[in-house]
Amino acid sequence: MGAKSEKSRILLTGAVGQIGSELAMALRARYGGQNVVAAGHKTEPEAELRDSGPFVYLDVTRRDMIREVIDEYRINTIYHLAAILSAVGEEKPQLTWQVNLDGLVNVLEMAREREMSQVFWPSSMAVFGPDTPKHDTPQETILRPTTMYGVTKVSGELLCDYYVDRFGLDVRGVRYPGIISSQTLPGGGTTDYAVEIFYEALKNQRYTCFLERDTVLPMMYMPDCIRATLMLMDADFEQLEHHADFNLTGFSFSPEELAAEIRKHMPAFEIEYEPDYRQQIAESWPCTIDDSAAREEWGWKPAYDLSTMVEDMLEKLEQRMGD
Ligand code: NAD
Repeated sequence: MGAKSEKSRILLTGAVGQIGSELAMALRARYGGQNVVAAGHKTEPEAELRDSGPFVYLDVTRRDMIREVIDEYRINTIYHLAAILSAVGEEKPQLTWQVNLDGLVNVLEMAREREMSQVFWPSSMAVFGPDTPKHDTPQETILRPTTMYGVTKVSGELLCDYYVDRFGLDVRGVRYPGIISSQTLPGGGTTDYAVEIFYEALKNQRYTCFLERDTVLPMMYMPDCIRATLMLMDADFEQLEHHADFNLTGFSFSPEELAAEIRKHMPAFEIEYEPDYRQQIAESWPCTIDDSAAREEWGWKPAYDLSTMVEDMLEKLEQRMGD
């Protein structure tokens, strides 16, 4: 478990996705472009990602493909982000099981076989379900999700912990809340509205939201998401009591609170509500999360709140959309 004793040679799966595309650049800034192999699936990478280091196409359900990349690039650390998210997961439950769990088993087995230093695998607040306490959801609590995505995340957490205990593999992970970002659009989750709203506000000054006005969910701004991920990977393994299941949060809000914050910058902005099947998924998740284990074990503290996130999102998107 000595990630820091040798030079990191990293494989990042899901590198073209919402989080992967920004994590790839953060890892390359830190470890050098050539030491971070970004793996996409079907979507073409942006030029910045393609040109700043090695880029490969990889199907994580194919163990032979993962093995080939690991051997070719002498990989010793894996950030495994490839997944099917919650909303798409309800449309394609069988595929979600295959990608999320068969993919994870493949990565863990390869990590064991090739004696990796570290594996990062994100879980999600989707591990919680309707029976879980909704406010200040504790670290140790009821995990009975009602989505296939949640089922794969609970199983994944158990599997990662099994590899830590049984094989001594250094596997770490957090339960990300909804992630808000300005670079890459989200890939089919229940909190996607909190990103779409900014694009529609800037283009049309109005947005039709697929969740009810008062549905409060835990969220986090991308700079905090990247910082949390790197902080956890830097932590001393011996000091960690938890491994792949840290509760994590930035701040919580409802669509109407987000709209009100956007209106402070754009008074003409209007929002309507037409809830769809994602409302039911959102209602099965917490409103607020207690992330004190992450704070105590590796010093987590978010930097952004609702108002600083909104200000930064509008500024970044105005710049990008104006280019
Ligand atoms: P995303 O959907 O934007 O990206 C996932 C990527 O996985 C996609 O680019 C997709 O092409 C790729 N993929 C799909 N099937 C594949 C396969 N068979 N082989 C290889 N790649 C495949 O997702 P994201 O938002 O960047 O999420 C990254 C991780 O973080 C996931 O594990 C997700 O469950 C977790 N997470 C995300 C959020 C969020 O709000 N974004 C919240 C909680 C947890």
